[in-house]
Amino acid sequence: MENEDKIELFRSMAESDPGNELAHFSLGKLYKEAGRLEEAEASLKCCLELNHDHSVARQFLGESLLALGRKPEAIELLEASIILAHERGEFMPRDAMCGLLKEYGIEPPALTSAEDTDAIEAGEFVCKRCRKARPGLDEPPFSGELGAAVQEDICVDCWKEWIAMSIKVINEFRLNMATPEANEIYETNLREFLGL
Ligand SMILES: [Zn+2]
Repeated sequence: MENEDKIELFRSMAESDPGNELAHFSLGKLYKEAGRLEEAEASLKCCLELNHDHSVARQFLGESLLALGRKPEAIELLEASIILAHERGEFMPRDAMCGLLKEYGIEPPALTSAEDTDAIEAGEFVCKRCRKARPGLDEPPFSGELGAAVQEDICVDCWKEWIAMSIKVINEFRLNMATPEANEIYETNLREFLGL
């Protein structure tokens, strides 16, 4: 699907169902990527009203505000969001937000380590998403490159979290998994959720 078509799809979903957190989020992301920053801000704020702690929505909103030249507002949001993402163990958006602050010459807030640094140093299997030395999957959850990447990088606990999340993805986007469009949306959300 072209991005314009996706924008149209998610926009109509968000309009007809204003409580649809994922539609607002996906729309905000696409607007940001298209440089439609004011619209990105509005959609991401709708997402955050429905899910205050959505770390990636906070990251994208911070990026949009910086691109809009609203630096003090962006910094305040990012500093609070980094701490929140850290507490929630969401390291990828946390690190991305720290990177954004550093790009603007600002030192990110100090955080106590929550990662299994010993295991990382010992070369054990460490989940790419939660950065913990937890058991991985015995086999790929599905065939293909993405299934192999899940097995290689993701622990069983994070995979179970995705299974729970995927129900929300299928419901909120009303996915008919028999269609390629639905599979594309499913895969995008899986990659985002697991950081692949
Ligand atoms: Zn994990």
